[in-house]
Amino acid sequence: MIWNPNKECMSRDEMSSLQGKRLHKIVEYVYHNVPFYRNKLQEMDITPDDIQTIEDIVKLPFTTKKDLRDNYPFKLQAAPQSQIIRIHASSGTTGNPTIVGYTRKDIGVWSECMARCLTAYGIGRDDIFSVSYGYGLFTGGLGAHNGVEMVGAAVVPASTGNTEKHAKLIRDLGITGIACTPSYALYLAETMDRLGITKDDIKLKVGAFGAEPWTESMRKEIQERLGLKGYNLYGLSEIMGPSVSYECMMQNGSHINEDHFYPEIINPVTEETLPYGQSGELVFTTLTKEGMPLLRYRTRDLCSLMDGRCECGRTSVRMSAITGRSDDMLIIRGINVFPSQVESVVLSMKEFAPRYLLIVDRINNLDTLQIQVELRQEYFTATFDTPAAIDELQKRLAAKLRSVLSIGVNVQLKAPNSIERSQGKSVHVIDNRKLV
Ligand code: ADP
Ligand code: ZN
Repeated sequence: MIWNPNKECMSRDEMSSLQGKRLHKIVEYVYHNVPFYRNKLQEMDITPDDIQTIEDIVKLPFTTKKDLRDNYPFKLQAAPQSQIIRIHASSGTTGNPTIVGYTRKDIGVWSECMARCLTAYGIGRDDIFSVSYGYGLFTGGLGAHNGVEMVGAAVVPASTGNTEKHAKLIRDLGITGIACTPSYALYLAETMDRLGITKDDIKLKVGAFGAEPWTESMRKEIQERLGLKGYNLYGLSEIMGPSVSYECMMQNGSHINEDHFYPEIINPVTEETLPYGQSGELVFTTLTKEGMPLLRYRTRDLCSLMDGRCECGRTSVRMSAITGRSDDMLIIRGINVFPSQVESVVLSMKEFAPRYLLIVDRINNLDTLQIQVELRQEYFTATFDTPAAIDELQKRLAAKLRSVLSIGVNVQLKAPNSIERSQGKSVHVIDNRKLV
């Protein structure tokens, strides 16, 4: 089944022509409504009339996460506040989160894009579908939720946490589909094992997995343990949220909703556009967004694009699995974590030297984050005499990190000069998870 064959199965010529028209309109729109873009375009001596076809996109400037941070909270918003009906936030690199406002039309487009994904996975009116991405400021929960309602399946807004109760609901309600992070799916499988719920007791047939990178071996393991078919679901809040792209039954790359999000691959160092098939950094331009449209947003996600009709009948460009990042962002339990966020917390406390090490692991299918941090000599002598003082300091750092990162961190205080110095560029992260 295809949700919107008019858009998902367009000929390349029709799609390019639609994209060209929409690009011209969106450039005109940001030129008149976002001073940041007007200034950038004027500096480059470009007017909206210079952008007529989709090929003209290479004339436009890039947008980065730093631009979003520098324009916090609303300066990239193009629609007047009275038109905004929802605001989400995702982690920024330091301090400020990224704020994304959506108009009613944006929420409608998002719901349709998500409905396209779910239909491709085989979800329809007869299904009972659990959304187990976090509800709240992150886009995962509510984003997937609206799509499930649009296809007419019954949505169970389970969110994350309370996994035992969730496992029982999956069995008792006969839930047939679930959207969650792939690592949460494995954790759920483990919880079911503990509760003695087997795959014969449940009716799950579809898993929509995303928000973090995953591998074919994880896919195999989840499929075997939960007895479902696992599909990729990709998105990022700056562009929309989940539903930017989705796998179909063929599972040969993820179809991009390219009538709304135009993809390019660039060399992250030279910024030159690369042809289909070559790996590089994924860049998106929102072609229809009203709340916060972005031109050539650098996602930092590394992958490649492929063209050509898919056996499922869709004609949209597909993207490969994400193979890495061109920055140092970590995704821990589906949440974006930048080492620089940790650094700024460590530096804000006088007791610590700027020497720290983040150790990421996956234990029983749950990501863990440990930070080792060195005390300054003067505090070391005073603190390490009293266990209560160590405990207090550890707790204070853990609480600060939790409020900045939104995840729990295991803090280990270290003696001065005890964290190994690296020869070259200092190493701040050891990621023991085997993801690629
Ligand atoms: P979300 O709420 O969808 O996680 P964020 O904006 O917080 O949105 O995070 C987006 C980032 O998550 C992407 O840039 C990418 O690095 C990662 N991501 C999302 N979906 C996938 C996926 N299916 N595969 C790999 N990485 C993904
Ligand atoms: Zn397909």
